[in-house]
Amino acid sequence: LMGQMMSKPLLISSIIEHADRHFGGNEIVSRRVEGDIHRYTYHDCHSRAKKLANALQQLGVVLGDRVATLAWNGYRHMEAYYAVSGSGAVLHTINPRLYPEQIAYIVNHAEDQYLLFDITFLPIIQAIAKHCTTVKGFVMMCDRDRLPTDGSVPNLLCYEDLIAANSDQFIWPLFDENSASSLCYTSGTTGNPKGALYSHRSTVLHSYASAMPDALNVSARDAVLPVVPMFHVNAWGLPYSAPLSGAKLVFPGPHMDGKSLYELFEQEQVTFSAGVPTIWLGLLNYVAQNNLRFSSFKRTVIGGSACPPSMMKTLRHTYGVEVIHAWGMTEMSPLGTTGTLQAKHMGLTDAQQEAVLLKQGHAVYGVDMKIVDDAGAELPWDGITYGNLLVKGEWIIHSYFKQEGGDILEDGWFPTGDVATIDADGYMQITDRSKDVIKSGGEWIGTIDLENVAMSFPGVLQAACISVFHPKWDERPLLVVVKKPDAEIDKAALLQFYEGKIAKWWTPDDVVFIDALPLGATGKIQKNKLREQFKDYKLP
Ligand code: ADP
Repeated sequence: LMGQMMSKPLLISSIIEHADRHFGGNEIVSRRVEGDIHRYTYHDCHSRAKKLANALQQLGVVLGDRVATLAWNGYRHMEAYYAVSGSGAVLHTINPRLYPEQIAYIVNHAEDQYLLFDITFLPIIQAIAKHCTTVKGFVMMCDRDRLPTDGSVPNLLCYEDLIAANSDQFIWPLFDENSASSLCYTSGTTGNPKGALYSHRSTVLHSYASAMPDALNVSARDAVLPVVPMFHVNAWGLPYSAPLSGAKLVFPGPHMDGKSLYELFEQEQVTFSAGVPTIWLGLLNYVAQNNLRFSSFKRTVIGGSACPPSMMKTLRHTYGVEVIHAWGMTEMSPLGTTGTLQAKHMGLTDAQQEAVLLKQGHAVYGVDMKIVDDAGAELPWDGITYGNLLVKGEWIIHSYFKQEGGDILEDGWFPTGDVATIDADGYMQITDRSKDVIKSGGEWIGTIDLENVAMSFPGVLQAACISVFHPKWDERPLLVVVKKPDAEIDKAALLQFYEGKIAKWWTPDDVVFIDALPLGATGKIQKNKLREQFKDYKLP
């Protein structure tokens, strides 16, 4: 017996249609690449997205074609999100921090037909245009007067000309909800980047789920500032979940230093934000140095790498900002787990609650997870036993674009490459990435714990723990530290500080101080580079 309910495909265009019809006057505010502040409404955004969709149609873009963007978080990028996917083409968001050769590689791999870019990235386009064999036109996202006239970019088009020349009468097409909507390449720390190809269905379901109270908790009372870039896993879905919920959106453009962010938080009365830990370091330092307070900031989601306990403490205790520790991956759209409390935790002390919040959290409905040993046998949820973390769900890839890497699933589960524990309440905690785990005398040492301890030592700005060769134990931990400006740190005192906080044999063998840690395209510490740098390091 079939249910008797209406059925319509879950399409991304329905999100912006909903936002226009029900929250049409709510604002999208952007700090533009040009430097000024731009503000308009969801209604305006929808109208310009339809103009862009008409323009794309005239340029010959058809269902399934890939259209790339190389752009910051801003209103024009938002318009492209809806115009491209909404009209049935596939939005390929490119991370501009990749090397130009890598960008050219993925443009060709994706067979992008058009490439939309912010003016900041003109030099990249000038360098790679001739290598991009499938691109029919490069669209510079600005007014005509900013376009270069030296012919350095072939087939150059002006974004604002396309918008001005087209009508906003456009009916979003209906098609199979399983059609591809957007494409995002992993950063490819090992080998070439591989593409995660999302569908309309997976994106809409992810948007619903991520807006829920125990996920990112996005509502029409929020002003959301995604610091996480729209070129990094769709800014964790906020360009979809915010309009779906009616939240005001605030885009920082390329200005992500502490001062610029703080000003935008205050001017636009931002209530909720999202970003990787390194971003919060900059903002928190600026706020502390200038003795400032936040007047509206209530919650932030932190993910992409582990949130250091010291950072969570500062945000919660000093500034009264609730921290939602989240875990996910490009391959998972990205949301997998969020660390929020349950009724049973309400009677706990603040320190006990914080211990729960520091874990990467419970699975969001739509995602299932398990930990297994190297033979694939499932391990217990006791909060102690750690194993390889596997996931499955509606917004998790089953294969990479163009089948790169072949069959990737293990018995229907996606292997995340992370090592984790899961406790009896279902809270998952990442021990490490499997390739970063230190194998000392055949036993594993997780580096996240070691880094977290170091980060709470006075004077430590950033810490990374890596394995170095040891003649007896094979590998031992070396702690690499960046000091806060003008801080003096005594090595012995720092190592002493580990006592009682972790198993004694986990204590790093040595500490080295460097000026800056190598960061990858998504702001994460590149441990492979550090390991290379210290491969001949002689431990004491
Ligand atoms: P990449 O860094 O390769 O571009 P992603 O941005 O998709 O890929 O990163 C996914 C990985 O980031 C996860 O597999 C995990 O190792 C790490 N990660 C994400 N969130 C967290 C977190 N909250 N704590 C620890 N590690 C995290």
